Amino acid sequence: MIKTEIKLPMKYNRESLILAACEALPIDRTEIREARLIRRSLVSVGDGKPYYKATLALSLDADREAGLLKMRKKVSECPDLSFSPPHFRADFRPVVVGFGPAGIFAALTLAEAGARPIVLERGLPVEEREKRIELFSELGILDTECNVQFGEGGAGTYSDGKLKCGAMDKYKMKVLSTFYDSGADEEVLFSTAAHLGTDRLPDIVRNIREKIISLGGEVIFGARVCDLTVSDGTLSAVVYEKGSERITLDTRAAIFATGHSARDTTLMLREKGLLMEARGFGIGLRIEHPREYIDSIVYKDDAPYIDASASYHLVTHLPNGRSVYSFCMCPGGSVVAATSEKGAIVTNGMSPHSRGMDNSNAALLVSVTPNDFGSEDALAGFALQEKIEKDAYSLTGSYRAPSFRLSDFLERWQTSSQGSVAPSYPLGTEMHSPDRYLDGYITDSLRAAMPELDSWLSGYGYPDAILTGPETRSTSPVRILRDGKRVATGREGIYPAGEGAGYAGGIVSSATDGIRSAEQLILAYSSLDQSHR
Ligand SMILES: Cc1cc2nc3c(=O)[nH]c(=O)nc-3n(C[C@H](O)[C@H](O)[C@H](O)COP(=O)(O)OP(=O)(O)OC[C@H]3O[C@@H](n4cnc5c(N)ncnc54)[C@H](O)[C@@H]3O)c2cc1C
Repeated sequence: MIKTEIKLPMKYNRESLILAACEALPIDRTEIREARLIRRSLVSVGDGKPYYKATLALSLDADREAGLLKMRKKVSECPDLSFSPPHFRADFRPVVVGFGPAGIFAALTLAEAGARPIVLERGLPVEEREKRIELFSELGILDTECNVQFGEGGAGTYSDGKLKCGAMDKYKMKVLSTFYDSGADEEVLFSTAAHLGTDRLPDIVRNIREKIISLGGEVIFGARVCDLTVSDGTLSAVVYEKGSERITLDTRAAIFATGHSARDTTLMLREKGLLMEARGFGIGLRIEHPREYIDSIVYKDDAPYIDASASYHLVTHLPNGRSVYSFCMCPGGSVVAATSEKGAIVTNGMSPHSRGMDNSNAALLVSVTPNDFGSEDALAGFALQEKIEKDAYSLTGSYRAPSFRLSDFLERWQTSSQGSVAPSYPLGTEMHSPDRYLDGYITDSLRAAMPELDSWLSGYGYPDAILTGPETRSTSPVRILRDGKRVATGREGIYPAGEGAGYAGGIVSSATDGIRSAEQLILAYSSLDQSHR
């Protein structure tokens, strides 16, 4: 197979796609045996002429492909991105702790390898989880074991489901094709702006769970791993609580994919001797603008021709050494109440598949480093997050989040009243300045960055934009050390993976980290000479 780049109009069909390829190469229509879109990105420069830049995979007669490749004109070889795990040959069942993107894809890989994994997930299946989240969003009744962070699908389930991929490889393709096979639109296979949507994610996640079970895997919900048995530095059992029961599960290997919010589990892993180091992350708040306004400043004259809500990514590096950047942008979405702990406020964002809600929001974050944590302790970043989350809660005395108009914040007004943008945070908001819950180095950086961000995206500093916070759980403030084979340093059989372990950020990178960890586990325990494990 060969691939070639083509330019596509905003409205195209399969025939016009093929004709564009015939014209570009050039080749005759009858020479094409198979044509498949493998990449498509929107090019909008705001001049009223948006288009797609696309990469098309083509199958032609072998000689013809070789001829075109020899010419090296506009074509290159299309790499094989198929992935199947090696066969698992050991005589035990590996355990996967956590059923977010990393755990789901680790379990799927193990199941496809014939390892019959046992998954332990502290939260509930999506059907039940949805009800717990509604209870919190509508009445402020929080289930600390099942919420926006915890439960089937992990933190990624109630999200925009953006699939950030960068350069494609076989692991990312495995993730995208699994989503597609489990109910996502075909677009996820090729669009650089693909997203699943919070309304579609639960079904997709449920379908992957069913596939894992059909391959011999087992998924146990409401099972919180609370202890491990480690003898001579080697794992021999995982202990979990389910209801009032405490159950010991013997195993030789477990993948820990517990996410960035499982502070109790990370602490337990440290007590079991896993080595950890603090790492930098981002702290800030959510900024909301009217969706149509963002569409108009991003697309400019292209806006009438594009029916997708606009996205943006902004970053600036300040003279004080900090970066201020937009993160997890949710076009046509809403701000989410994302705490997993009582007496704390955490914001995040999500969008339905249509991305058609009134506001577009994004996190606006300031980079923080371990030097800001105020302690040498590897887990000091958790303490910093907790302090901010609790301060915000104390400010309102409830799960109502503090909000403030952008221009009032920039001009340091002590009070603010809501302008034209209604905050979408579901539990209600009160007007309090970010200065009341974020440290001065964060709010100063946000103020200093705004003119710069506004120069990158003219109009971004919309006076009525609304700031709701805090956003503290952008990624993990800790990294669990692991060796080249993804085993926790000095602890045989323990595979820390995904965002919580500090090796990923986002759905796709967490999922691929899970696949790669599972692959290493399979290779390690299936080797003919197993004495090294
Ligand atoms: C509201 C929101 C929106 C987001 N939007 C996007 C987006 O659009 N695109 C994107 O790429 N990323 C997004 N993210 C980030 C993304 O969800 C995470 O990067 C990703 O889910 C991390 O995957 P993970 O598997 O490593 O961890 P998690 O998804 O955090 O999963 C960890 C799982 O482990 C379970 N667990 C924890 N401790 C235990 C224990 N002791 N025993 C058993 N189970 C345990 C948890 O219940 C959880 O289900 C969003 C996050 C949130 C919160």
